Amino acid sequence: MKKTKKQSKHQSKKQSKHQSKKQSKHQSKKQSKHQSKKQSKHQKSFLKTFLLKKSNKINTLFNSKDIINMLHYFQEDDNTFTKDTNRCMCIDYDVIGNDTSMENNQDYRRCKSKVKSGTDYCEKHQDCISFISQNKNGFEIEYNPGEWSHPYVKGTHNCYSYFLNDIQKSIKNKCDKLCKKEFGDDCPKKTKKCGNLKPQPGHHHLLIKDGNLNNKKRDYKCSSLEKKIKQDNPSIINSNLLDKCPKQHYKGAMVVDDDHTFHFYRMNKDSSWSHKPGTNKVINYDADKKQIYIPHIANRDYSNKPNKIKYNSFCNYYCIPTNNNIQTNSI
Ligand SMILES: [Zn+2]
Repeated sequence: MKKTKKQSKHQSKKQSKHQSKKQSKHQSKKQSKHQSKKQSKHQKSFLKTFLLKKSNKINTLFNSKDIINMLHYFQEDDNTFTKDTNRCMCIDYDVIGNDTSMENNQDYRRCKSKVKSGTDYCEKHQDCISFISQNKNGFEIEYNPGEWSHPYVKGTHNCYSYFLNDIQKSIKNKCDKLCKKEFGDDCPKKTKKCGNLKPQPGHHHLLIKDGNLNNKKRDYKCSSLEKKIKQDNPSIINSNLLDKCPKQHYKGAMVVDDDHTFHFYRMNKDSSWSHKPGTNKVINYDADKKQIYIPHIANRDYSNKPNKIKYNSFCNYYCIPTNNNIQTNSI
């Protein structure tokens, strides 16, 4: 309610300013007609954005599978867009005595204050990491990049495998064969051919449904990718940064470089996040080499690198069942 009032106040202020400026310049009837048309267009688009935001909230609450739910993250809070190194890297939670609250920041927006020197957080949010840690349920996976470092694992498994925590023996064996064919006794070593074995969201579902991949589509948008990962793994649940996952689930996140490629993260035992960029090693830092604690405000802009990737859309947080709970499917 509070927010609605504030927004409409802001809107009418903006509009009346815009309007009076325009009015003083042009007084003709024709123009005022044009103006009111423009205004109603502006109003309509504002209302549309506002309603979409509301529906996204509802979507998160009810875990609906079909509504796009990527617009409740804000570009100006995201280090992918706003590389403000002096801005606090925490979400803006309230501190009242010994209590903390997100009541005034239900969109999980980033704090606007400047950092306390030598830290990543402002004076108020020095305890950011322990505040964030309230989202742990004890089923997070230990950060262990070594587990993914064997050339047949590293070179064949990608971010989707890592998100699902699925190291596939069948892929390793295929890579072994490819390697031995090319390099014989020099194996195991990283070979480019093994890279084609990387799991792709949606392929498991297609193979079950059609028995082949003839109908595969390269459709890299949050909505279509979310559909694909849930078709592969119907047990994946939508979540949020601070919500606790159910027992025997850990937290993950999906991002997209629209129409280009996808990426995934998962949460570690210590509340930091890690990821496996393509066939590279598993890491726990972002494009700024900063340890990741809040993926939706981390830096995901690699556009200065040869593959020019910028994960501009933060899709959502998810809860993924642990392997000893429900099997997940990456291939
Ligand atoms: Zn702060």
